[in-house]
Amino acid sequence: MEPKGVLVVGSITVDATAFSRRLPRRGETVLGDDFTLVLGGKGANQAVAAARAGAPTWLAGCVGKDPFSEIVLSGLRSHGVALTEIRSVDNRTGVAHIRVDASGENDIVITPLANSDLSVDMVDESIRAVRERASVLLLQLEIRKEVACHAAEAGAQSGLTVVLDPAPAQPLPDRVWRHVDIVTPNESEATALTGIDVVDFESAERAAAWFLDHGVRHALITLGSAGVLSVTAERTQQFPAYTVSPVDTTAAGDAFTGSLGAALAAGLEIDTAIRRGMAAGALATTLPGASPSLPDRASVDELINLHAIVEGAAQ
Ligand code: ADP
Repeated sequence: MEPKGVLVVGSITVDATAFSRRLPRRGETVLGDDFTLVLGGKGANQAVAAARAGAPTWLAGCVGKDPFSEIVLSGLRSHGVALTEIRSVDNRTGVAHIRVDASGENDIVITPLANSDLSVDMVDESIRAVRERASVLLLQLEIRKEVACHAAEAGAQSGLTVVLDPAPAQPLPDRVWRHVDIVTPNESEATALTGIDVVDFESAERAAAWFLDHGVRHALITLGSAGVLSVTAERTQQFPAYTVSPVDTTAAGDAFTGSLGAALAAGLEIDTAIRRGMAAGALATTLPGASPSLPDRASVDELINLHAIVEGAAQ
């Protein structure tokens, strides 16, 4: 079987980040130390993660007609994401306005702008355009909810494996869940969606049961440094995290989902795909920032091999 690729339907933003010793109080102005302008948005981050993991990757999304569009398009291009399914619309490119203090504390205002223009027709066109070459569809919730829900249904009908990262968490219509093959919430998203306070493997298992009851085939609850709980109708399994020294946990979840999707598209077994996603998530915490911290396939191979050697030596 020829390896296939990943279609991501999701958001694209410019992340405009100001770094200062402390965050300003209400109405106050402070002097900052640094400022960066880089590609962001959960859709773009997961597309970069999948492309860096080696999958042919398309991103269906919208950018504006403004100088920021060149920043995001060149970022996507440089990481190997295909730009054919990105529309340039009469709007401005989405922006995430981020402030970070010296302790890493941050606040963020996301303005969707062009991301709100992504329509169900555009999604249908993109699925039609790549369905012969892609086998996995990655979705998140930074685009309009009805567009994400439509994408899940249309993707499932086209025979794609639909992976939904329900972030930022928000209530979804019950009918969407039966189109979702794999759901990948973190603790707080699982808590918000299921009403079950997810704090450990035991509560994660109860939250996973909620997703399965609603029609999802496979729940993968990501638990940060505690790893992942994987639940299907047949099997519940805990996957312990890879040991790393984290400096910034931003985009760990995007690295996980993108790398998982790439591994599934390459035809790897689900457990192998989960481990590759987890290694990518762990590595993303070892570098600052979002898209700049997403690891490539070689670094994931290296962490997995190192772990196998350590495990072997301990036995
Ligand atoms: P999110 O970024 O969406 O909150 P998580 O923090 O759960 O997602 O991270 C996703 C996955 O990345 C985890 O399940 C885990 O495998 C890996 N990961 C995240 N943080 C760490 C960490 N500190 N050490 C090792 N692995 C981590």
